Amino acid sequence: MPPLIFRKGLDLKEAVADRLAADYHSALVDEVKAADYTYRSGRLTVHLAREFGFCYGVDRAVDYAYQARSRFAERRVFLTGEIIHNPHVNDKLRAAGVRFLSDAAERETVLGPDDVVILPAFGVTVGEMGRLADRGCTLVDTTCGSVLNVWKNVARYAQDGFTAVIHGKVHHEETRATASQALKVPDGRYLVVFDKAEAGAVCDVIRRGGGRDAFLARFGHAASEGFDPERDLARIGLANQTTMLMSESLEIGEMFRQAMLERYGESELPLRFRAFDTICSATQERQDAVVALLDRHPLDLMLVVGGYNSSNTCNLANICAARVPTYHIADPDGLVSANGIRHRPVTGDGVPGRTAREATSTGWLPVAGTVRVGLTAGASTPNNIVGQVIERLARFAGAGSPQS
Ligand code: SF4
Repeated sequence: MPPLIFRKGLDLKEAVADRLAADYHSALVDEVKAADYTYRSGRLTVHLAREFGFCYGVDRAVDYAYQARSRFAERRVFLTGEIIHNPHVNDKLRAAGVRFLSDAAERETVLGPDDVVILPAFGVTVGEMGRLADRGCTLVDTTCGSVLNVWKNVARYAQDGFTAVIHGKVHHEETRATASQALKVPDGRYLVVFDKAEAGAVCDVIRRGGGRDAFLARFGHAASEGFDPERDLARIGLANQTTMLMSESLEIGEMFRQAMLERYGESELPLRFRAFDTICSATQERQDAVVALLDRHPLDLMLVVGGYNSSNTCNLANICAARVPTYHIADPDGLVSANGIRHRPVTGDGVPGRTAREATSTGWLPVAGTVRVGLTAGASTPNNIVGQVIERLARFAGAGSPQS
């Protein structure tokens, strides 16, 4: 029997609405939005980006998870891993009794037909989906429509004999799931490139040919099994992880187009190169909003709130760091004191950081005079966390007068 899969909720939206509001709503954030996205207290002014926080895909995934817990109160309910990259949201689900198959404690867990498994917003691999279906579990699939759109295109590349070249993070759940779509076709291939430096190295191979061993030494872990650069880079289709930096994805797409043009010429290009924009609109809106905020307001510093392993949050921080001192904090606790801040260092050169190593810095908040702070949050950060950041910021900035 095919598994029971819920893809459009479980008809309990209204029943869980109050619980969701209690867990994630912020009256303060509503007030700030109503005040032209500005918060003022004493010497402090906070400018909030006009698009920030929970995106439509995350909103929906969290809603479905709450509905699933409510609907299947008597059954074991699992998540394959983090539903989104926000520890507070994951902890709330844990507290509600949802178990995480990615936890070490679940390593020996055997799933069966009585179990319910929630699939996260960034989806799961084709193989994982098959294994869960084989177990007969009831599935609550929260995979975002924007991710499904990428999958559709990658699957089509494979059907048409094109290798999917994916701009993304090779270990990110979404990119692994997207890459697996290429393998639904027997000879399907994929290659993941992380940044412009990696794209440039692949483009060199396209232009010159050869260099198979060196290529596999560098990219073997990021390519489909049996990848042969000479054969598998002859026809390529570009895709992205939905949360990458839009400008970088576009540049990488152009780098590949140019390399294919130089190798095969204009007449062959349409037969050998395809590309389409797979950055999701929510990611794009948040990136645009932060640029608009930086253009509009002179700032002393920028705070970017979100999980350190949240791709879209890291990219927001990268955009900001190129313009103004920027601190990427995981949550309000990152604001340790008026002098100390715990944060993920941001390079500011447009290159997404590869590590999530946390650092503590001092002297982040001007000690006297006016303080102008820009604020945004990644797509997996709920409003209550943003509200708590504003409250703590106000406390540390003190109520001193702007002239002090
Ligand atoms: S960031 Fe984009 S693709 Fe990811 S869940 Fe949100 S809307 Fe969907």
